[in-house]
Amino acid sequence: MSYFKLLPLSAAIMLFASCENTAVKNDTEMKEKTEITKALDKADMDLSVKAGENFFEFANGGWIKANPVPSDKTQYGSFTVLYDNNQKKLKSLVDELQNAEKLDNPDAQKIAAIFKTGMDTAAINKAGFAPIEKDLAEVDALQSKEDMMNLVAKMHQSYKSPFFSIMASQDDKNSKMVILHMYQGGLGMPDRDYYTKDDELSKKLRVDYKNLIKTEFTLVGNDAETAGKLSDEVMQVETTLAKNSLTRLELRDPFTTYNKTTVEELQKMSPAINWNNYFNNIGLTDLKDLNIGTVNFIKELSKLIENTDLSVLKTYLKWKVINGASSFLSSDFENANFDFYGKSLSGQKEMRPRWKRVLGTTNGALGEAVGKLYVEKYFPQEAKDRMVKLVENLRTAFEGRIKNLDWMSDVTKEKAIAKLKGITVKVGYPDKWKDYTDLKINDTQSYYENTQQAMRFAFNFNINKVGKEHDKLEWGMTPQTVNAYYSPNGNEIVFPAAILQAPFFDMNADDAVNYGAIGVVIGHEMTHGFDDQGRNYDIDGNLNNWWTEEDATKFDAKTKIIINQFNKYVELDSLHVNGELTLGENIADLGGLNIAWDAYQMTEESKSNQKIDDYSPAQRFYLSYATIWRQTILDEELIRRLKEDVHSPGDARVNVPLFNIDRVYDLFNVKEGDKLYRAKKDRAYIW
Ligand SMILES: [Zn+2]
Repeated sequence: MSYFKLLPLSAAIMLFASCENTAVKNDTEMKEKTEITKALDKADMDLSVKAGENFFEFANGGWIKANPVPSDKTQYGSFTVLYDNNQKKLKSLVDELQNAEKLDNPDAQKIAAIFKTGMDTAAINKAGFAPIEKDLAEVDALQSKEDMMNLVAKMHQSYKSPFFSIMASQDDKNSKMVILHMYQGGLGMPDRDYYTKDDELSKKLRVDYKNLIKTEFTLVGNDAETAGKLSDEVMQVETTLAKNSLTRLELRDPFTTYNKTTVEELQKMSPAINWNNYFNNIGLTDLKDLNIGTVNFIKELSKLIENTDLSVLKTYLKWKVINGASSFLSSDFENANFDFYGKSLSGQKEMRPRWKRVLGTTNGALGEAVGKLYVEKYFPQEAKDRMVKLVENLRTAFEGRIKNLDWMSDVTKEKAIAKLKGITVKVGYPDKWKDYTDLKINDTQSYYENTQQAMRFAFNFNINKVGKEHDKLEWGMTPQTVNAYYSPNGNEIVFPAAILQAPFFDMNADDAVNYGAIGVVIGHEMTHGFDDQGRNYDIDGNLNNWWTEEDATKFDAKTKIIINQFNKYVELDSLHVNGELTLGENIADLGGLNIAWDAYQMTEESKSNQKIDDYSPAQRFYLSYATIWRQTILDEELIRRLKEDVHSPGDARVNVPLFNIDRVYDLFNVKEGDKLYRAKKDRAYIW
């Protein structure tokens, strides 16, 4: 339920899921770092484990023992360490603004104001649920389903998203233009499967979720019996929505989810809603057509609205008001919310400290304003220059690999290389910053009201793009985000400033370590343009089949090998990685490893065989790769991610792809009979 999800990222493919966590290991700022730190530390390894038995443990066992998951987190790893360092930097920026006698910059004033109101727990606790009383009264006053849809439009404008979701982004078949997309939505649990599956854990989570609904309805003034009845009604509506929703796997298919439709046709398929009215209400007064990502869902939604009592639908809307607000209300709401979304779903023991939660909201509300300050203070130009050069080396290496592929025809190769050359690269921060002039945030209105203003601002910013040309200068992530992405519609790779730091990118480390880390990250993002999803988009970002049939068939056969490798990888008791759900990411990891290796071969250092701490440059390349995925994780969180996350867990991201690479066997003395050994005929070779 993180506020950060406001960013329109649905069309982008990220490096990893998210890092909402904490604790600090190393606070050295890149800018000030002069001495050479140990990029790879043997103490972090476990030399009692053979590389061929468990490469992940071999490379990370010492670190894992020393780093159990902290109590306010659900997993801990390289991303978390960097994320934590970054949180401290961001906090010091915000503190500076808080302590300034006078702020002339309006963006800085807004950052300081939302943070200040968020930290004022005395005022927040005193207000209780007063900030949402008006919203709840609006639901109570509804007299008809038509009235109700007017309110639904209003709720969508502040991202409370009952029933379904909408957002503006590029048209998959005409990527120059932005259109409106409509998708399934309206659930309070993170996935349809939680409502439909009958295993013990799913049943338990449904009970816990119902308890959350009950608790929060009690907190807004209902007695226990009434709250129990209301929670049944919410479950009734959400379960129907869930049953008509596509699975995560089905949503990965860009062809299934492309259904450009006129508003007239939409009206016919979903007659219980007056769509012209709805679009007028959200500010799209002359909408002609849109993409409906989940057609069956929208048809069934119409039936749900028609066949359900208004009183039940009103209960559902009230729940959306309460649940959408509970992170910004008094501590009893926050605690109830954490009991389910933190403890039950992910096993998290303690809430993150308040300042980190409020900082998250501040980043969500004013991301690029915070980012601008962050970059000025923490991002050196030389890091950007070196990164741009690295990316070009990777591009050259990838081109060489495509030319040498033994399974692809020349005509497809030519188009693949053209697409590779067409990839736009964004490094560090946007050339054009977002304008927050119209965002009304100040320290005299409540924290809740500030967040609502931010939501409405973000909604309007997004929806205003409909019918206009896509703005190529726009970023889908803020500079202070520790992550990276590829956008298929933009055919672009984006590396925010925050990921260009150790352990991913270390200006003082040897090339092997950097190519094994940030080099693979770059190769990973480039490969997304050619994974099972990305390969369907052409050089201009349009969904357009540029492959010969024979090449496409060969590609599919190769991906089956990777699917099987991951399906067989056991994580916990009988739980496996889902090879189909994680396919795109797994292709990208393997591609990234191979491309980064070839790029590394262009460096001087790769020609030497000089060992550091007993390991050769080639060995250090793969060890470095293994360290970026090191991770400790709670069982609950692992189980949740296996269901929801398109990325495989850290150990699988190391132990599976490395053993598709022939040279790894020689470099680490892996022999037949070792657990991770794979016969040559079973190894996957794609990019
Ligand atoms: Zn990825």
